Amino acid sequence: MTPDEFRTHGKAIVDWIADYWEGIEDHPVLSRVDPGWVRSQLPEHPPEEGEPFDRLLGDVDRVVMPGITHWQHPGFHAYFNTGGSGPSVLGDLLASGLGVQGMSWATSPAATEVETLVLDWLAELLDLPTGFRSDGPGGGVIQDSASSATLVALLAARERTTGGASNRNGVRQGTAPMAVYASEHAHSSVEKAVRIAGFGSAFLRTIPSDDDHRMRPDLLAARIDGDIANGLRAVAVVATVGTTSSTAIDPVARIGQVCADRGVWLHVDGALAGTAALVPEMRWLLDGLEFADSFVVNPHKWMLTTFDCSAFWVRDRADLLRALSILPEYLRTEAGQSGAVIDYRDWQVPLGRRFRALKLWFVIRWFGAEGLRAMVRHHLELTERFDAWVVEHPSYERAAPTTVNLVCFRHVDGDDASRRVMDGINAGGEAYLTHTVLDGTFTLRVAIGGERTTDRHIDRLCSLLDELA
Ligand code: PLP
Repeated sequence: MTPDEFRTHGKAIVDWIADYWEGIEDHPVLSRVDPGWVRSQLPEHPPEEGEPFDRLLGDVDRVVMPGITHWQHPGFHAYFNTGGSGPSVLGDLLASGLGVQGMSWATSPAATEVETLVLDWLAELLDLPTGFRSDGPGGGVIQDSASSATLVALLAARERTTGGASNRNGVRQGTAPMAVYASEHAHSSVEKAVRIAGFGSAFLRTIPSDDDHRMRPDLLAARIDGDIANGLRAVAVVATVGTTSSTAIDPVARIGQVCADRGVWLHVDGALAGTAALVPEMRWLLDGLEFADSFVVNPHKWMLTTFDCSAFWVRDRADLLRALSILPEYLRTEAGQSGAVIDYRDWQVPLGRRFRALKLWFVIRWFGAEGLRAMVRHHLELTERFDAWVVEHPSYERAAPTTVNLVCFRHVDGDDASRRVMDGINAGGEAYLTHTVLDGTFTLRVAIGGERTTDRHIDRLCSLLDELA
């Protein structure tokens, strides 16, 4: 593709995306295709000769679009929202165009330095403890996902616990078994990380939670002490600020004290709800973060940034670097050897890394701190509006406290009725919601974090729920 051809087709794609966003409400939120339909519409074998670009775009309209669930639709209330906005898409496009691979500072100094700056900016915007800033022993890095962030946090924690012995000798050889602790409502990525890191699922200690689904610090302390008495090593605790099922906020300060008293690494998973700390009136949910050794928040969830972009900080990068850095000759650079620069490949699992910081930089600069705060407040207001409606409605009841931008509720007639309501909403095409199980009960979840969601959409959702009640 020549630069001129790229210009022509690139403009067509940008127009296509703008048209898509303008008309997004014409689509049913949830894709309606049957399994296998998309593939059945496409040739079984790759083309022998190149095809004109308009044929590619034609197939996007004809085949891909029916198979799309519209995450940027204002009626998307499933799971947690995935961020998106003009500046973030343009930043992502620019990163693709530059096509740099920022594994080391020397492989593109701007990729590293913009990333370090942007994470310092974000630390300031979220009012994170100063220890997470890059001007001390700590610092931030963009990971592809919170799952990866939690994995590397556990690897760093293990490094600290064993002084590197586990990396040299293997996880179980010559060392006592090691345990990781998280609440029963922690995200499944914690168990995945525990498995990948080789602790074994049996050594993920699931700590019961209170009636509001928050981890019980007293039971955490008892479990750690019991394990230590039995000869285990307590490696890390993962506290969640905004659990996936119900956005419960674990008491980080009390958990942090338990960790500090026992020398256990504290990782705080604020994948979704950490964003709420952009507004001072919600900063309380990160109280106790000064105890944390690491913290993750996903701009790709609730900060208008297109997937993937997960912001991760450590208070002391030395453990992380010891756990993950390996220096083969072919990656040796003068700058890296000087110690004056960051080589982010040592902060993550893969070697290669995209210039993800560009899109976050664009988002922060385009919206400004004020714009980001306005977005959070808007979603919190919409959530309050919906929450109040649920509380008032005779056929529905809240299933968990509403802490940020998710409302958990159920039909008073029980699980079958709740399921019927969810299926009815999702079949209608105007909105999409998903479920969880809380306290053994089928629970509907309405997440409110889409850039385009307004009062009108929430009111419409309320009337749809009313019709199905
Ligand atoms: N942690 C929490 C609390 C989550 O809700 C999620 C996803 O919803 C994750 C971690 C995993 O996020 P990612 O997809 O970035 O790995």
